[in-house]
Amino acid sequence: MKIFNYCRLFMLLIPLNLIAQTIPHFKFGENTSIAVKGGQNIKKTWVFILAGQSNMAGRAKVEAIDTMTDPRILSINEKGEIIEAKEPLHFYEPKMKGTGCGLAFGKELLKHVPKDVSILLIPTAVGGSLIKQWINDSPFRGVQLLTNFRDKVELGKQYGEVKAILWHQGESDSNPEGVKTRKEKLRELFTKFREAVGNPSLPILMGELGSYSKDKDLWNQMNEQTRLYSVSDQFTSVISTSDFEHKGDFLHFNSAGQREMGKRFAREYLRKFGTGLKAAQNKSVSQPTVVLTFDDAIRSHFTVVAPLLKKYGFGATFFVCEKVLKSPGDSIYRLLWPQISELNKMGFEIGNHTGHHKGVGKLNHAQLTDEIRYIEDKCSAYGIPRPTSFAYPGNRSDSASQVVLAEMGYRFARAGGTKLYNPDTDNPLELPRYTMCTDDPIRIIMTRKLLENLLPGQILIFTIHGVPDTANLPYSTTPEVFTEYLEYMKEHNFNVIALRDLNKL
Ligand SMILES: [Zn+2]
Repeated sequence: MKIFNYCRLFMLLIPLNLIAQTIPHFKFGENTSIAVKGGQNIKKTWVFILAGQSNMAGRAKVEAIDTMTDPRILSINEKGEIIEAKEPLHFYEPKMKGTGCGLAFGKELLKHVPKDVSILLIPTAVGGSLIKQWINDSPFRGVQLLTNFRDKVELGKQYGEVKAILWHQGESDSNPEGVKTRKEKLRELFTKFREAVGNPSLPILMGELGSYSKDKDLWNQMNEQTRLYSVSDQFTSVISTSDFEHKGDFLHFNSAGQREMGKRFAREYLRKFGTGLKAAQNKSVSQPTVVLTFDDAIRSHFTVVAPLLKKYGFGATFFVCEKVLKSPGDSIYRLLWPQISELNKMGFEIGNHTGHHKGVGKLNHAQLTDEIRYIEDKCSAYGIPRPTSFAYPGNRSDSASQVVLAEMGYRFARAGGTKLYNPDTDNPLELPRYTMCTDDPIRIIMTRKLLENLLPGQILIFTIHGVPDTANLPYSTTPEVFTEYLEYMKEHNFNVIALRDLNKL
């Protein structure tokens, strides 16, 4: 009641139009922490403009998590008033509103910015809009696209600094002509965007079109053109969406995809444009990351590897299977299920390497499902959580198997390819890796070099067999050299994790 009285007194003393000028569009009773025009807090509100077509406007189902607000993540309503952000953020097409990437972007960014910073998300995307309609400032679905964009930028500037634009558009332009002109149109539009904001080096983050389209070729070509454009504009970046699923219409990302897109936008913004924020970022971003994965359920994983990893405090994934033995005597080198269960209890991840180490390319849908289930059932019998990581036997993956894995709830699958893992461009169901073994002296030198050259933020995944691998010498790693690598990683403050932990980076 006291506050109410105070407010009333305040209202009586100050002419209304002055309040309106001082605190533009400010709605009493909500978001009292918002910066005010001319106040010293203006730098503490970071403004992000969301632009593009339907996948930026948001068409996914609004789930509970999409409506959980944070007092430091703000947006606007249709009257231009500041509100706490919750999905759906866009209001231009009331009958098609859905979850977009904005709130998830804000939530991820918030983890890495100073505590006194608020984030203001301003929606300007309109479903179905063509890039030329943006460039020509055409009215579309009741919104004059560029004029509205400029108005919203001005509105945002009253509260803080416009930090970046998030752009997702291109489905409507996915035709041969659209592909051909993509790069020049992006340049034309982004010049206008930056003029409107008054910052020629304003960061613009772009999201790829999904990979599920019935026009897959054209969408891929659009993505390629977007990436090519980005190479020529150093203040842009492209995030991958190739692993996202549609909501059932082959056009729009589902809620999980939208939330992941928001996260990726935030991480990419921090990675590329977040200079000066390094200290605020989480530990893993400022450290090199190594993922250790051990294949084929070899006894030394339990007797040698696990105690060593515990000593160093490192995580790892053990990809288990019941591989057919070369000779029956080799059975003494094989992990037993009680030992696998013990590895799980020690905090290591148990991953799926198929029941019997069969190349996935030779299996049909039902056979592959059976092979995957085999390990899941064993895990369940031994009280081990259902695996969410997979390793392709022989490192050979194919898109049909990836569909099966995705259906069965697998988040990560390790394949072939000898390179570092880039979460923004690589498919999580086809992860690249390096092989660790000590059979060849050149490989030892290469592994040392890899570790020495690994930069903070980079991710290196290792495939390792036995330490040692007595039944399979060419794949063996000696405990001595293995310990040397662990020692190096400890000394240099590496983040050494299981595959499932890629989620948390
Ligand atoms: Zn294997």
